[in-house]
Amino acid sequence: MRKVYAIILAAGNGHRMGGTIAKQYQILKKKPVLCHTLTAFEQSVTDRVVLVVSPGMEEYAKKEIVSKYNLKKVEAIVSGGKERSDSVYAGMCYLHANLSKKEREDAVVLVHDGARPLVTPELIAKMVNAVKKEACAIPAVPVKDTIKRAGNGFVKGTPDRSELYLVQTPQTFHFLLLWEAFEKYYADKVVQKEVKITDDAMLVECMLKKKVAVVEGDYHNIKLTTPEDMYIARAFMVEQRENFQKNYVPKLKKTHLYAPKPRFFVRNPHRGTRKNRFYAE
Ligand code: C5P
Repeated sequence: MRKVYAIILAAGNGHRMGGTIAKQYQILKKKPVLCHTLTAFEQSVTDRVVLVVSPGMEEYAKKEIVSKYNLKKVEAIVSGGKERSDSVYAGMCYLHANLSKKEREDAVVLVHDGARPLVTPELIAKMVNAVKKEACAIPAVPVKDTIKRAGNGFVKGTPDRSELYLVQTPQTFHFLLLWEAFEKYYADKVVQKEVKITDDAMLVECMLKKKVAVVEGDYHNIKLTTPEDMYIARAFMVEQRENFQKNYVPKLKKTHLYAPKPRFFVRNPHRGTRKNRFYAE
């Protein structure tokens, strides 16, 4: 059975969000954004979590997030780097140093943006399932708008929309595949200078030329980047709670003498007709 590790990235400064604290620590529905993200992993098939934070934020994250919200799967808090890919590599180095050779061969690693608090245990399970077949899989959703390439105030081209996807996280890999891609990347100074790595699958595509499977993502799984994203996330969370309440069926104890009878709401097919009187509404 493969062990599942998650690297959660929270080492960005998130300056596009504004505010006095980085977006991953801002409050969303009474809890820090990062706490929502880690809770989804806590409730998922993930075995262990490595949290990557900005240098100097380790103690804060430990006290104010991990201990305060009793997040038991967080095994380590490590400090990240300048670019997002440097932060992923910091998490990978921690795992590489702390897993045995056999464990590394069997491990699955999920890389997830701490700023995507609406990820669900279901999407995480789907991603882990996807790498049973392929060594690398990403969640993505089709774009809804037309996308243009542009520069200097003019359109340069219009790619075929049916082939365009918005890529999300958690991107999921066999541990050794991502490790090999990173080793090649850091050994190649030319690629480092010329290619800007914006997601993890890109490393596997560029450095190893391996296939990346695309799994259906979730439109709710947005990345919080600018202030209006906070409003959208709040609205989605209200929707999630309402759906949960709608589907919630209280369990009645058999021994409870005064347990209320469950009420079933049967749609009356004769509503508005003479037969209606036989149905209690
Ligand atoms: O900047 P962006 O929103 O694309 O960052 C995506 C995620 O990567 C965020 O959760 C952010 O905290 C993280 N990140 C990081 N280290 C960096 C830059 C970004 O962990 N150097």
